[in-house]
Amino acid sequence: MSGPVLVLVEHAAGEPDRLSLEALAFASSLAGSLGADVEAVLVGPGSAGVAASLGGHGVRTAHVVADGRLDAYAPAAFASALGTVAEARSPSAVVAPGSDRGTEVLAHLAARTGLPMAANVVSAEPGESWRIVRQRWAGSLLEDATLDAPIRLLTVAPHVVEAADGAAVPAPEVVSHNASLAEADLVVRVTGREAPETGKISLTDAKVVIGGGRGVGSAEQFAELEELAGLIGAAVGGSRVATSLGWRPHSDQIGQTGLRIAPELYIACGISGAIQHIVGCKAAKRILAINTDPDSPIMAVADYAVIGDLHAVLPAITAEVRRRRG
Ligand SMILES: Cc1cc2nc3c(=O)[nH]c(=O)nc-3n(C[C@H](O)[C@H](O)[C@H](O)COP(=O)(O)OP(=O)(O)OC[C@H]3O[C@@H](n4cnc5c(N)ncnc54)[C@H](O)[C@@H]3O)c2cc1C
Repeated sequence: MSGPVLVLVEHAAGEPDRLSLEALAFASSLAGSLGADVEAVLVGPGSAGVAASLGGHGVRTAHVVADGRLDAYAPAAFASALGTVAEARSPSAVVAPGSDRGTEVLAHLAARTGLPMAANVVSAEPGESWRIVRQRWAGSLLEDATLDAPIRLLTVAPHVVEAADGAAVPAPEVVSHNASLAEADLVVRVTGREAPETGKISLTDAKVVIGGGRGVGSAEQFAELEELAGLIGAAVGGSRVATSLGWRPHSDQIGQTGLRIAPELYIACGISGAIQHIVGCKAAKRILAINTDPDSPIMAVADYAVIGDLHAVLPAITAEVRRRRG
């Protein structure tokens, strides 16, 4: 039997994050081809509780690395913890979510072990050498590659695999490990946080996202997007033009150098649809474009379009939502 597939599971506030659940779904299918088990690795506070909830995601055993020095995110220390479990378990593969942290931790592990790492993988076919397909150029290109290594290190491209529904099944066995950290592992670490605005819906979790681009015209005119968002429980984001011009904070940027979103509906207002923007929103189930230009590139990916001035269209939608709600 092949060694297990280890999966790094990120979590916060007692919940596994969505990309980690996608990585578990990817790992379950990989483990099925290998005839191996899926085992999770969790680091940081709250790990044991989250570990116990992962049975419905195909996890048989969950490894928890407990050490107060891992309470705050520190990429090298997290990689050391993951390496400790990998050494103990001789896995076939170590899989991480294709998040900023998942990618960073796995890259550290690759550097420490000298193993090759493949990022943004969409499929993996085990064999003598593994055949993998992975996203390049922010998802605009797929690359066929082979991966030859005793332990394959992979991150899973965001939103290419559906997470399991997590139906209740027996909890996995939870195994504790001690971390073996060096001072150098803690040189880079999170030392403080800015609290998000309370009540603000996060762009990556929102079911509806309204994005604004240059066509919005100014920071003040984003109020039209905010008003509709407030009514329908949406989050507001922007294109790079909107963030570069200071109309929105950089943390609201959607795209290659911003956030990848996957809402049920993305309403793109005054956004032309540059490839660097589209890679951030192409996982949306539906895209509605509101644009004055019927030939703008966003039309090629939009499911619905309203050709018109967003300053007329958005208030009309807002008024209609209000009217229907009485
Ligand atoms: C390395 C690199 C990384 C990048 N990363 C990102 C990224 O992460 N995210 C990102 O968004 N971009 C990114 N970009 C920039 C990207 O190439 C585009 O320049 C940018 O997305 C364009 O923003 P926009 O659509 O808001 O503006 P524009 O391209 O100027 O489009 C404005 C649109 O608004 C429409 N419009 C104008 N007025 C109205 C109106 N009143 N009503 C309705 N429609 C109107 C116009 O018809 C036009 O289609 C990156 C570029 C590079 C080179």
